[in-house]
Parts: sequence; C-alpha cells; structure tokens
Amino acid sequence: MTSDITTLTASLSCPALTSEAEIAPYLTDASQAAAGRPLAVFLPRTTADVSTILRFASTHQLPVSVRGAGTGLAGGAAAYEGGLVISTEAMTELSIDADARLADVQPGVLTATLDAAAQAQGLFFAPDPASAATSTVGGNIATNAGGLRCLAHGVTADSVAALEVVLASGEVIQTGARTIKNVAGLNLTPLFVGSEGTLGVITRATVRLKPLPEGAPYTFAAYYNSLEEAGGAVLALTSSGLNLESLELIDRTIVQLINKHHGAGLTEPGAGLLIGLCTSAQADAARAATICAEHGASSTETAEGLALMEARRLVFSSIYPEGFTVLGDAGVPVPQLPHFIRRIQEISEATGRAVLITAHAGDGNLHPSVYAGAHGEETEAAEEVLALISAAALELGGTITGEHGIGSAKLHALEEQLTPATLAAGRVIKAALDPAGILTPGRGL
Ligand SMILES: Cc1cc2nc3c(=O)[nH]c(=O)nc-3n(C[C@H](O)[C@H](O)[C@H](O)COP(=O)(O)OP(=O)(O)OC[C@H]3O[C@@H](n4cnc5c(N)ncnc54)[C@H](O)[C@@H]3O)c2cc1C
Repeated sequence: MTSDITTLTASLSCPALTSEAEIAPYLTDASQAAAGRPLAVFLPRTTADVSTILRFASTHQLPVSVRGAGTGLAGGAAAYEGGLVISTEAMTELSIDADARLADVQPGVLTATLDAAAQAQGLFFAPDPASAATSTVGGNIATNAGGLRCLAHGVTADSVAALEVVLASGEVIQTGARTIKNVAGLNLTPLFVGSEGTLGVITRATVRLKPLPEGAPYTFAAYYNSLEEAGGAVLALTSSGLNLESLELIDRTIVQLINKHHGAGLTEPGAGLLIGLCTSAQADAARAATICAEHGASSTETAEGLALMEARRLVFSSIYPEGFTVLGDAGVPVPQLPHFIRRIQEISEATGRAVLITAHAGDGNLHPSVYAGAHGEETEAAEEVLALISAAALELGGTITGEHGIGSAKLHALEEQLTPATLAAGRVIKAALDPAGILTPGRGL
C-alpha cells in the first residue's frame, strides 16, 4: 500500500504527510475521541485533488476521515487505522459578492475570517458557534453548527445557498443555487448540511450574508437565585416580541470558573446568570431586563458592547481543567426548559455527581457538563449520568444533540431518538452515495 500511496501522491498537487510527527495534529478532535494511525494525511487545495484521493480510497476500500479544524465535539473527524485523512485546512479561497449578499468559500476558511471579510463590506455571516475563531466554514456546514446567534438567525443550514460536494466515488456534484428562490430538482443541499463527513466532502460553499445592523450592540444580564426560574424567564423573553439575537444561561459555578481561569471579573449570581444580546437597541435591552425582573431575577443590568457575550465563549476552557469533561448537547422545546433544568438537577442529586449547566437558552439547547474525575478516571460513571439526562430530554420532546452531532461519541444513543425505520432510511441514502462505505464509516448515522 505504501507504494500505492506514493503513486497517488505523485498525481496530486499537494503533499502527503506520513511521519508520526507530521500526522500527530490530525489524529483526533476536541472530543479526544480514540483515533487510529492513518496511512497518510492530505492537505488538498483543489476539488480535483479531493476527487482523486476519494477515487483512490474507493478503489482500495480505505476508510477516509474528513477534517476541518478538528474543533468537533463528537469524534467525527478522528483518523482511522490504516485510513486516509483529508484535511481542508489549505482550502482557504474566499470571495464576497456584496451586491448578492453571498460569499463563495472553500471549506477550510475559518468562520471568524469569513465574518470579518463580510463585515469589511457592511455584511456579516450569521452562524456563530462559540468556536468561530478556530472552526472552519466546512466543519460548520458538515455539523450544521449552531451557536450564539441562532435565536435571531437560525442554524448554519439557514445560511447555506449552494454546495459543491465530492462523493465517495470521486464524482463532483453541485447542489442549490445562488438565487434566493430555487426549486429545481430535489433539494439536496440540506442532505449534506449536518452529514458529518458521511455522505461527501464539501469542497465549496455559497453562503448567505446579512446586512450589518447599525449602531452599537446592547447586552443585558439578569441574576437568578434559581436556575429553574431563569429557564422560565427564557420563554417570557422569547415570546415577548423583542428582537433578541442571543440568550445564554450560565450557572453560578461556571461563572466562578470563568473568573478563576480568565480573570473575567463577572458578577456571581446566586444560582445562574441569563445574558442576552439585542442588536443596536438599548431600549430592547432595557425592556428585556424588565421582563427578567418581572420573572424572578434578583437583579439586572444592561451594558453597551459584547463583553458579556465574549465571556460566554470561555465556558469550555474554564470547566475542562476542573474535570467536567463529559459534555452533553441536549435540546428541548423552549417551554420545557425549566422542567429540563429541574430534571438535570434531580439526576445530579440522585447520582451524587456534579453537573454544570450552560445553555443556548433561547434555543432550548443545553450543555450539561458532568464531572468525570480530576483526570477523567470517572468517565464511565459520568457517561451514565449524561445518558439519564439525554433520556430526560427525549421524554420532554427534545433531542440528544442540538448542534454538536453524533460522530462516534453519541452513535450508541441515536437509536433512542430515531425509530428503526428512520435509521434504515438514512442508511439507504448513505449506501446509495457511498456504496463502498469509505467515508467516515461507522459514525454519524
Ligand atoms: C470551545 C468550543 C466551542 C464550541 N462551540 C460550539 C457552538 O457554540 N456551537 C456548535 O454548534 N458547535 C460548537 N463547537 C463544536 C465545533 O466547533 C463545531 O462542531 C464546528 O462546526 C466544527 O468545525 P471544524 O472545522 O472544527 O470541524 P471538524 O471538527 O474538523 O469536523 C467536524 C465534522 O465535520 C466533518 N467535516 C469537516 N469538514 C468537512 C467537509 N469539508 N466536508 C465534509 N465533512 C466535513 C468531519 O468529518 C466531522 O465529522 C465548539 C467546540 C469547541 C472546542
């Protein structure tokens, strides 16, 4: 196989990384999922190279993992033993069509880079995962990433107009269109959005941009002595008619840990802190703070600027060093949020295991972090607690994953949410597009 890889590499315009030192950064993702030792890691710059690599992998029946920046939290990008890795990090072409409010990108463009380029032309890219500075647009599309601005702008799928995808056979297809309206043929774009590297490699995307709002953003903060009560205020806020861009919940311990690890100087709440962003509308922020005060907040404040929202991005880097490494991603319908918070607290008490809560509260998407021991030695017990939490989300009409995806980490739980017939339908599509089963096998669906 080594000589075949050498022949393959000779036909590409990109090198193959094969030494231990070279491939080490490409083995796993932010979930630290187990990975195998791949034969080679490729950093293609062109669609043609991706196509050649996939044709080779199909011919030789080699498993392929696809990798953006590796910030994924489900193990989807982890390398396979004896497989190939396609990293998109060198695919960074980007152009903005300001008149059409579209951007054309290769998949390795960082989310924040795209947003900054759009902002330079008075536009912005709405998808805004907390990892925006380090994750790729291709990874966001492949995971249908959510994030902080979904309340106003939806998830990544809502910003994708068209895709170029290389199928497992090496064949290149185009989905969608650059128009606002398009109903030609089956709508294949959403099939690839959120497909986690299992159906094809996204090699180009046309994404929608929005006009930058005028004026300064305003944030509000509401301090609660009960997390459940904070959850109740979320419904009052989301049904108030206010134009909220983000609405996030952070529990007291996480606020303390953000202060400890990042010196953020946040005011500590009795139980939890609800923070929201109103785009350029001081009056909206004040009205939101009033609604929170009417719904149990012990105190509230408003501020110009994004400092509070930036603090929200520090959650994971503040809790992981403390051993809270088993991370959930469940979602529930917003009216169920207070019940879900109560259920998580009951599960924590019944199992005697600490669970921290942060949430994209306006979307009903919670990230419970379960204590897994100072060095992760209690991971199995923590996983059991997370399974109880996921089950509670399903009982409340929710989902086991709102935005991080299934990957390898949550594959075992997928059958708890989807019926056998639904699972089978997904696998029929997978088999049709990747008959040799080489693309991200055994993960995602
Ligand atoms: C600190 C931190 C905060 C985060 N916050 C959020 C958040 O707020 N919201 C959220 O949704 N997620 C969040 N995440 C998770 C993660 O950043 C997202 O899932 C992101 O979309 C992954 O992008 P990536 O480029 O790192 O992809 P990777 O991790 O490299 O890959 C993720 C998946 O996409 C597939 N993939 C990547 N590129 C392609 C491609 N071009 N074609 C086909 N498949 C591809 C991979 O095979 C894999 O299955 C966070 C992660 C961290 C570490």
